[in-house]
Amino acid sequence: MSLSLYNDLTHQKEIFTPLEERKVRFYVCGPTVYDYIHVGNARPFILFDILRRHMEDMGYEVVYVQNFTDIDDKMINKARNLGISVDELAERFITAYFEDADALGIQRATAHPRATHYIPQIIKLVERLIERGHAYVIDGDVYFDVLSFPGYGRLSKQSLEELLSGARVEIDPKKKHPLDFALWKAQKLGEPAWNSPWGMGRPGWHIECSAMAINILGETIDIHAGGSDLLFPHHENEIAQAEAATGKTFVRYWIHNGYLLIEEEKMSKSLGNIVSVREAMKLYSPIAVRLFMLSAHYRSPLNFSGEALNHAVGAAERLQNGWKELSFALRHRPRKKERDDALRETIEATEARYEEELNDDFNTAGALGAAFECVRAVNTYLAQHEEVDEESLMEAERFLARVDRVMGIIGIERLNDIDDLMTSEIERLVSEREKARKEKDFKKADAIREELAKKGIILEDTPHGTRWSKAM
Ligand SMILES: [Zn+2]
Repeated sequence: MSLSLYNDLTHQKEIFTPLEERKVRFYVCGPTVYDYIHVGNARPFILFDILRRHMEDMGYEVVYVQNFTDIDDKMINKARNLGISVDELAERFITAYFEDADALGIQRATAHPRATHYIPQIIKLVERLIERGHAYVIDGDVYFDVLSFPGYGRLSKQSLEELLSGARVEIDPKKKHPLDFALWKAQKLGEPAWNSPWGMGRPGWHIECSAMAINILGETIDIHAGGSDLLFPHHENEIAQAEAATGKTFVRYWIHNGYLLIEEEKMSKSLGNIVSVREAMKLYSPIAVRLFMLSAHYRSPLNFSGEALNHAVGAAERLQNGWKELSFALRHRPRKKERDDALRETIEATEARYEEELNDDFNTAGALGAAFECVRAVNTYLAQHEEVDEESLMEAERFLARVDRVMGIIGIERLNDIDDLMTSEIERLVSEREKARKEKDFKKADAIREELAKKGIILEDTPHGTRWSKAM
C-alpha cells in the first residue's frame, strides 16, 4: 500500500515517490525564536513529525530538517525591548522550544539549523541569483526580480496582478516591481549585521529557508511543509529563489496544514487570544493535546476550544485504560487453548484500516478511529471472557504499540514505568503480609489485605502461597 499526499503545487492527491528510493528529504519551516511557541505553531510541528514517523514506520529513511529563524524584525524588536542581544534572545527561545517540543512528544529533527549559522551559504545563493540576472542591488539591499522568473505565482495559482491586488505590499520606490522581495537587507543603525559583497547587512527571511534546505538536503527535495499562512509569499518566494538559482525543481511535494482557530477566531496578538503551549499544558496532558491535533484532517482548520480539549482528555483516558487492561490481562489472566478467530480478525482489520487511513493523504482522524476500534474490541472481549486468547491479545498489543510509536498517543513507556512501580509495591506488600501471617500477626495481615483491596488488588491464599490479581 503506497502513501498518497495532497500536493499544493498540483492541487491533487498524488502517490508519493521519493527522488531516491526509500529515502525522504523533508523540510519543515520552523519557529521564529522571539517568544514561546503557541498551540497554532505546534500544530505543524506535531503533525509533520508524525508524518515523518509514519514514513519511517513504512521503511523509509527520513532526513527531516526543521529550522530556527533567529534573525528578523520581530527578533530585533523583542531583543531591544528586553535589553538583550538578538543572539541571547535566540538562545533563550530555542531552549524554550525544545522544552515545549519535548514535553509535547515531538521528536528532534535530523537537523535544526539556525539561519544565522548559514550566512556564507545564504550570501552564495544571493550571488548566484545576481549572476543569473534574477536579483539586483540598490543601496546595499538586494531584491529578487519577480518579472525575471516566469513561474512566479505557480504555487499560489495566481498571476502577478492577482497576487498584487490580494497582498498588502508597501510601495517602495527602490523596487522594480512591488512584489520584488528582499534577499539581503542593508544594515540599519543598531541592528546585527554580517559582512557581504553588498556591505554590512542581514538576510531576508525567505532566502534563509531555501539556503538551509538546499545545503542540508540538496537542490531538489521531496517534501516541504508548513502552515498554510506560509504558502504566500514565503513558499512562493522560496520556489522562485531556489529554482532561479539552480535551474532545477526545488520541491516535489508542497504540503500545508490548515489554521488553528481559538474559539472560532484566528489567533492573533491584537485579539489577545494566543495560547502558548506552556499554558495549554498546565490544563491538558501532552497526549490530550496530541489527540486533539490529530482529530481533524491536517488540511482542515481546527478549533481549539475547552470542549474539544476535554473531549481529547476523555479519549486519552480510554486509550490508556484500554492499554492497561490489555497488558494486565496478558500477564495475569488464565490462557485459553484455542484461538478466538473473531477477535483476531477484528484486530487485523483495524490495523489494515489504520494503514489505509494514514496512507490516504495522512488521514490521522481515520487512523485514530481504527486504534479506538481495536481498544473497544479488546475491552469487550476481556469483559466477556475470563480465559483469554493470548496470541490475539499479543497482536493487539503489538498494533497499539505501533500506533503509539508513530502517533505518540498512549504513552506506553511511561505507563509501563508506573505499572512496574505498582507491581513491585504490590509484591512487597504481599510478602510482608505472608511474613505477618507466619508470625501469627493476623491483625497486620488483615490490614495489608484491606490496603491492597482499596487499590483494587484481590488476594487469594493457596497452599503454594498468596496469589494476587487486579479486580476487573
Ligand atoms: Zn521557511
